[in-house]
Amino acid sequence: MKHRLAIIGYGGMAGWHHSNIKEKIPAIEVVGALDVREEAEAKARENGLHVYKDLDELLLDKTVDLVTIATPNDVHKKLAIQCLKAGKNVVCEKPVTLNAKELEEIIAVAEQTGRLFSIHQNRRWDRDFLIVKKAIEEGLIGTPYFVESRVQGSRGAMHGWRGHKQNGGGMLLDWGVHLIDQALQLFPEKVVSVNAHLFSLYSDEVDDNIKLLLRFESGASMLLEMATNCLILQPRWHVSGTEGTLVIEDWSCKGKIVKLKPDGEMTWEDDIVYTEAGPTRTMAPRPKHTTEEVPLPEVKADWTEYYQNIVDVLDHGAELIVKPKQALRVMKVIDALFASQEAGVGLRVDI
Ligand code: NAD
Repeated sequence: MKHRLAIIGYGGMAGWHHSNIKEKIPAIEVVGALDVREEAEAKARENGLHVYKDLDELLLDKTVDLVTIATPNDVHKKLAIQCLKAGKNVVCEKPVTLNAKELEEIIAVAEQTGRLFSIHQNRRWDRDFLIVKKAIEEGLIGTPYFVESRVQGSRGAMHGWRGHKQNGGGMLLDWGVHLIDQALQLFPEKVVSVNAHLFSLYSDEVDDNIKLLLRFESGASMLLEMATNCLILQPRWHVSGTEGTLVIEDWSCKGKIVKLKPDGEMTWEDDIVYTEAGPTRTMAPRPKHTTEEVPLPEVKADWTEYYQNIVDVLDHGAELIVKPKQALRVMKVIDALFASQEAGVGLRVDI
């Protein structure tokens, strides 16, 4: 039997959920929507959905077993808890909550009710991320020790409710959640320190340009940057490994790996080398025969695999891919990053 899904918050992201489930996930039928705006209700009707008059009507609809929450961030917690208590399985948009404590409250209710609760961390299925993950897993660049992950726009202020603190706006809670979730997938080990530089260039209320440093237990570190005023872009990914460097330029995934050749022994000239940087042996170009360029690995990338996993969990007891406990680690890192910003220094953590 098909799962019947209702969407709460039928705005921008809801359109993605609706059309992609319809196109690619035959085991789920999107049947209804709830919103607080008339335009959104009209759109849902136009798209063939039943529009609930209020949350109670949705919660009492026994034909609906799955709810996706795609409202602004500040109401995720309340809605998630109400839906779980009414016996619904729940997919919640990111950031799941505004902090770790709120998520702990949801997790407790999910455990009491035994219902599925998951967070739409769809960027685990981004092509660029999957390439980096595969390159690391296959040892193509040796051991990674410093990973730079950036998303850079140039359109200024955060849009709409994302510019308001009370709605859970700001860049750290918006893109930060995605990039931190990816970071914790790349380094599944303890985070031991965090350092945040949160700039508010366009807003009195929220951060809109951010630089984050995470240090992991093994000593590896990640730099995460998100900008809204960057007019000269840096690569989406720059990954330094002990045996190679990987670069992905942009969302189209142009990029390359340059790695050390096993037989390309490096020798040092006895005399100083004169380069454009002046006399330096260390920064002189590496002899060509010591390195080789290899293509980025091939990956299959499709956001809707997220929903396929939800169906597999509900119908076949498969393992949930995006687990609430993983999101809890992300939220604890975010709490610590806000604390680092407040303190103006990096902080030791144990997350
Ligand atoms: P949006 O403003 O376009 O849509 C939100 C909708 O929720 C609006 O139609 C609004 O009227 C409605 N709403 C507000 N309060 C409500 C309430 N109490 N009950 C019912 N409806 C309510 O915002 P958006 O860009 O679609 O973002 C929605 C959520 O999706 C956010 O949590 C955001 O972070 C997330 N999002 C995720 C991704 C992703 O890639 N995973 C991308 C964009 C947005």
